[in-house]
Amino acid sequence: MKLKLPDHRPPRDAAQRRAVAPVICYPVDGLPVPNIALYRAARKTARKITEVLVPPRDAKVFQVPAGHYFRINSVEGPQVGDLNLWNLHDLHERFYSGKTRALHGTHLSVSDRIWSSHPYLRPIATIVEDTLDWYGFDEFGGSVHDVIGTRCDPYTHNLLVGGHYHHCCHSNLTRALADYLDCPACDAEPHIHDVLNVFMCTGFTRDTGQYFMKASPVRPGDYLEFFAEIDLLGALSTCPGGDCSSEHSSDTATCHPLMIELFAPTENALRDWSQPPVNGYDRTHGV
Ligand SMILES: [Zn+2]
Repeated sequence: MKLKLPDHRPPRDAAQRRAVAPVICYPVDGLPVPNIALYRAARKTARKITEVLVPPRDAKVFQVPAGHYFRINSVEGPQVGDLNLWNLHDLHERFYSGKTRALHGTHLSVSDRIWSSHPYLRPIATIVEDTLDWYGFDEFGGSVHDVIGTRCDPYTHNLLVGGHYHHCCHSNLTRALADYLDCPACDAEPHIHDVLNVFMCTGFTRDTGQYFMKASPVRPGDYLEFFAEIDLLGALSTCPGGDCSSEHSSDTATCHPLMIELFAPTENALRDWSQPPVNGYDRTHGV
């Protein structure tokens, strides 16, 4: 928090230094542009193949073949979801929330990609539909679908409040992945990573720069839909914060399920699409 008085007086040219205009760290003009028109055209003839219901304060794992679509639906009531994504065949390649934020900004919507970790660093999914795209940024600087939070977890809860709460998103994701891998929770836990906060409305306070949340604008019928660029393993947790209007990491908030639907494209619908290759850097690091 930066509200306390600073220890140092500003220099004479402080105003000039502050007045320097910012530049974008990572101009994305050079990135390959996803062919949203192609994805949407192929989606029109895609057929639903399955659905997965994630109960409140829990998580489920799901597989998405490359070229398929998955949609996260709000059902029954406002609910936030915490999403992890991996390469189905190699869990070392996983969603890189920090770099996705650096490339696309604090909150994601249509045509933004989900980027994977080093050394792969390639788009592993692309957002193709977002019924909350109307929200934009509100007067508090809040928006939806952030990549600035991490996930609620029992360690931070223990630091701040004490006790042992077992249904934070981190634990929900850990249990679901351990069940999928048929391994102890402690072996699955290192695979859990920073999330995309689906439907969550967040920002940073303007005075102290602190991470804030507010009631999600999501309502039943809203959805966020992705195109899988590679074979994916996903895990989605229904946050114990519910719509995240008051608190998380407890059984206090009203929680609802989330529904994941999978859609398969028809043959030839994606013949002009190919899977993105892994990153081209040669990995010699100047050695
Ligand atoms: Zn959570």
